[in-house]
Amino acid sequence: MTTALTQNALAGILSLEAYTPGMPIDELQRRLGIKDVVKLASNENPLGPSPKVKAAIAASVAGDNLALYPDGSGFRLKQKIAAMHGIDTSCITLGNGSNDILEFLARIYAGPGRAVMFSAYAFAVYPIATQAQNADAVVVPARPATDPVMPYGHDMAGFAAALKKRPDVALIFIANPNNPTGTWLPPDEIEAFLKVVPPHIIVALDEAYFEYQDAALRPDTARWLKTYPNLLVSRTFSKVYGLAGLRVGYALSHPTVADLLNRVRQPFNNNSLALLAAEVALDDQQHVADAVALNTSERARLVKELSAMGLKLLPSQANFVTIDFARDGKPIHQGLLEKGIIVRPMTSYGLPTFLRVSVGTAAENARFLDALRAVLA
Ligand SMILES: *Cc1c(COP(=O)(O)O)cnc(C)c1O
Repeated sequence: MTTALTQNALAGILSLEAYTPGMPIDELQRRLGIKDVVKLASNENPLGPSPKVKAAIAASVAGDNLALYPDGSGFRLKQKIAAMHGIDTSCITLGNGSNDILEFLARIYAGPGRAVMFSAYAFAVYPIATQAQNADAVVVPARPATDPVMPYGHDMAGFAAALKKRPDVALIFIANPNNPTGTWLPPDEIEAFLKVVPPHIIVALDEAYFEYQDAALRPDTARWLKTYPNLLVSRTFSKVYGLAGLRVGYALSHPTVADLLNRVRQPFNNNSLALLAAEVALDDQQHVADAVALNTSERARLVKELSAMGLKLLPSQANFVTIDFARDGKPIHQGLLEKGIIVRPMTSYGLPTFLRVSVGTAAENARFLDALRAVLA
């Protein structure tokens, strides 16, 4: 019976493993009966969205808007995004989260006989989207664990070398900063790579954590888009804007690529509250600055205290730190769960001795550090 149901499923889907998200707070409360749970597992913004966003959503719900379809073109949001980046709205595609964009790319450019290139230990959605299209994954080895500058980081010389051997590559994913490692690439290394990629290969630069980076590390996205028509940049409202629950992301690309993305996009892939929330969120850049400032100081504190405990961390420019315990991370993860702290195991990324911890509020981080000390004692 079950064989009949899977018989015609595509091979790529059958060998796929579903994405494992961070454990929701409810689930830990149900499983262990713990009331006061701290979730540091999905790189969410501990400040939540701007209060102005919450007020706008409440007012919209109180009005009679929910029966109407959203604006399928996202006109107002695109106007604001265009103004922020100094580019034309024809270069913008909205996604139901930026994951939506990554999937559109795979649907457009990947398939049997095509290959998609990305780094080892890169974002889990890249291999999933690739395999779902029955395309080949070219996984470029990461920098070695012993690399003095960027252990487990993307190796762009490795990308360039692998590209020469694989004329079937149609799409390249680069996460900068990368999740789950937190590692990053200096802008000149990315640009040097863009210069050697043939113009028919799309380079998707996933900048989900862009705002958290030091200013000097942020590329001049608008200039790059003009110079490299095969570049696509994706951004999200899920991280620094605190809107992960509403699902909004976007792509900046050449209008020709945007046109292709628009063809595979569901007509109403962003709901009306999400569109409204993103518009209002863009107007509150003070909230973004506050979130970045909190992250910068609390990330430094986590790095300092965890290092003082003798733990090894990967360098991070994101809103999380990734710790190598140099032994099985599972019992540590479990011990933290029992103390009401949810962090992210890295086993599915092939890093079973690592745990990834999102940067929370000062109080949340203090609770995590106390719990970790107790678990390791
Ligand atoms: C969180 C994250 C995203 C964003 O996902 P959304 O679908 O926008 O919520 C994209 N890329 C990376 C590398 C991420 O870590």
